[in-house]
Amino acid sequence: MSRKPEKLIDKKGLRLDGRKPDELRPIKIEAGALSNADGSAYIEQGKNKILAAVYGPKEVHPKHLALQDRMVIRCRYHMAPFSVQERKSPAPSRREIELSKVIRESLEPSIFLEYYPRTIIDVFIEVLQADGGTRCASITAASIALADAGIPMRDLVVACAAGKVDDTIVLDLMDTEDKMGTADVPLALMPNLKALTLLQMDGILTSKEFESAVNLALEGCKKIYTLQKEALRTKYVNMKEVEE
Ligand code: ADP
Repeated sequence: MSRKPEKLIDKKGLRLDGRKPDELRPIKIEAGALSNADGSAYIEQGKNKILAAVYGPKEVHPKHLALQDRMVIRCRYHMAPFSVQERKSPAPSRREIELSKVIRESLEPSIFLEYYPRTIIDVFIEVLQADGGTRCASITAASIALADAGIPMRDLVVACAAGKVDDTIVLDLMDTEDKMGTADVPLALMPNLKALTLLQMDGILTSKEFESAVNLALEGCKKIYTLQKEALRTKYVNMKEVEE
């Protein structure tokens, strides 16, 4: 692990990458980035580069996984061996298994699961490059991939983290801030329904700091939600123009 920089916030109140505390990393989202999947999305958030692909709804194999009253969501979050500075084993780690579950549970409330009983949707997430906050960026991308696949949804799910580095509450932590900071609060929500689908906390915060971090993360989500909708609109407006 790299050494802790003396200060994560400089005298001007700026972070290691020059951002203000309440600033998101630059975000680029593309809906339908892959042509072979039923739905897909690509997101760049700072140095994070993540692909999400969706297949289904389709028949369940093995059959015993099928549920009589609703669709099953199967999610695999995977970090490519070249996604971090030291080669990562391609075998699923405990962290990847846990994040697959966390991401699935964040997405499930947004989907009308009861519309397609005895079927399954596969959600594949490939982290090509990681720099902190990959669970949030993965949820943001996977939700667009689900919408791109035409899955009936209550709302998009958008995710963002806030946390504490040095003595400051900051938005959208990158890897160094995540590792060297005091706390990290990732959350996901369906903005139109004002419903949280994920809330985690790593580290220590006072209840006041926790409240500030949650409010900041919600502000971040609001901005990313606009980008999600723009990405979908861009794809489908372009398709319509090609058809005409
Ligand atoms: P998140 O990516 O959601 O913040 P973590 O807090 O578990 O999830 O991880 C923080 C960051 O640590 C990741 O985004 C990635 O940059 C880095 N990281 C995770 N796993 C590894 C690994 N096996 N090797 C090197 N860096 C890793």
